Amino acid sequence: MYRTHSCGELRPSHVDQQVVLAGWVNRRRDHGGVTFLDLRDRSGIVQVVANPEISPGAHAAAEAVRAEWVVQVRGVVRRRPQGMENPALATGEVEVMVDEVQVLNPARTPPFVINEETPVEEMVRLKYRYLDLRRARMRRNLEMRHRVIKYIRDFLDARDFWEVETPILFKTTPEGARDYLVPSRLYPGEFYALPQSPQQLKQLLMVAGVERYFQIARCFRDEDQRGDRQPEFTQLDVEMSFVEREDIMALTEELFTGLVQSLVPEKRLLASPWPRLSYREALERFGKDNPDMRFGLELKDVTDLAPGCGFKVFERVVEGGGHVRGINAKGLAALSRKELDALTAFVADYGAKGLAYLALGEEGGQRSSFAKFVAPERLQAMVARLEGEPGDLLLFVADQPAVVFEALGRLREHLGERLNLKDPDLLAFCWVIDFPFVTWNEEEERWDPSHHLFTAPVLEDVPLLDTDPARARGQQYDMVVNGYEVGGGSIRIHQRELQEKVFSLIGLEREVAQERFGHMLEAFEYGTPPHGGIAPGIDRLCMVLLGEPNIREVIAFPKNQAARDVMAGAPSPVESEQLKELHLKVVT
Ligand code: ASP
Repeated sequence: MYRTHSCGELRPSHVDQQVVLAGWVNRRRDHGGVTFLDLRDRSGIVQVVANPEISPGAHAAAEAVRAEWVVQVRGVVRRRPQGMENPALATGEVEVMVDEVQVLNPARTPPFVINEETPVEEMVRLKYRYLDLRRARMRRNLEMRHRVIKYIRDFLDARDFWEVETPILFKTTPEGARDYLVPSRLYPGEFYALPQSPQQLKQLLMVAGVERYFQIARCFRDEDQRGDRQPEFTQLDVEMSFVEREDIMALTEELFTGLVQSLVPEKRLLASPWPRLSYREALERFGKDNPDMRFGLELKDVTDLAPGCGFKVFERVVEGGGHVRGINAKGLAALSRKELDALTAFVADYGAKGLAYLALGEEGGQRSSFAKFVAPERLQAMVARLEGEPGDLLLFVADQPAVVFEALGRLREHLGERLNLKDPDLLAFCWVIDFPFVTWNEEEERWDPSHHLFTAPVLEDVPLLDTDPARARGQQYDMVVNGYEVGGGSIRIHQRELQEKVFSLIGLEREVAQERFGHMLEAFEYGTPPHGGIAPGIDRLCMVLLGEPNIREVIAFPKNQAARDVMAGAPSPVESEQLKELHLKVVT
């Protein structure tokens, strides 16, 4: 038997017990002729004492070990001498007096220190991920992820859901990204696609009568590696039959409210029930459809105050169908010219041609880039609309609506950071609903589904699909927390005719639709129940719950930001023999 106890479990109740422990040497110290080892296993750390007067052999062995060696020790638990307790350690009241130390495996000096949370370059952490995962923070993250998934499984099992596995080798699934393809050896020139999500399969499970399905599902999307994305990620995939939007939203809300309360009780939920915003309201108040509701700084519309106000820039933009909207950067009136220029450059990155400012001095004076052009009562109305008070800085963007929202939405996030308004202990969940069913794709000159091909339009809006598609709403809902979209779902189409109508609206030729989705259309003819679902992202949720800055921190073996596995070296070239078997030729 390698061990009788784990390191982290020892307490005063174990005093005088004989124990055998095994683990890694977290740290070794020599003190007054005695050697102390901090012995670490997954459960924690305990102090081991090797005294030459008690066991010269154990002491000699302990003296020889180095950090990260794997050792087994045998000894007796005793209380630490008075004043020597370590309250920072769960086992800090005791230590193990050893009479045997056996080296199970020595270790090379690791490329970075394991026993301290010193910053290490991510490239090195990912190359030696198995060492990185030994560190306390990553161990905590792995454990939390396990607890999150376990909570979800228990919760859904208790509500009659079945977990069903769906294939990884499948056919193209339209979630808006590029597919990863797997060449078939048996069928030259044919390919499987890795699922972007189990969307079609979970719907087919509803046709099959499963009624309540979930899966901790791996999804694969070959997207450009902008920002915080991974080629493969994990979703809690859910689908239910005989439900309406409210049923799915209620279940999801109950699941995640309970999960937060039991797994991260130190975090506060901003509101329960979660606030609901229409897509339009989210844009108008926050500039984006995944708002961070932990803080105010909401956008305000002053478009109606622009015509004839005297300031040509505002006037012209509004004449051209644009908007003028502003944001009140509370208490930032004293920003220097240079800092204001930096904010202008910031919004320029998001397409805004300028940032008009009005700084309201504490003493009643003001500095402004445009106030001198504007009639005083209009200016006053703008200040009132933004609830400007002495000491505030009012910032305005005038442009086409999409640019105004993007620029001010980003600016709001930036100011929230700068003004320290993003309380890390607060979880502000909300729902965004009433999305447009389709959006116009300028480049391709066609309608794109806002969510995906199988989302149902709001029933009373179905006639609009023929007359004015832009006004039709989709039965889609997004789950948002602290500025991240952590899940999306919808009520699905369950009738062949409506599905075909949507295919044709988005420009899918009949034959193409048949070739790609014939199995879905056919299935819809065999008694498909009304159904809907949702798919919260496990990686991002864990990231938010743990307060980590990116999803790589909550994935055991992530790809780097360039979609490479730098530990194993993937992707990598393959043997020409393998290519031949797959009927492939590489052309570079
Ligand atoms: N399959 C969708 C997605 O991955 C989610 C859903 O509609 O359930 O975005």
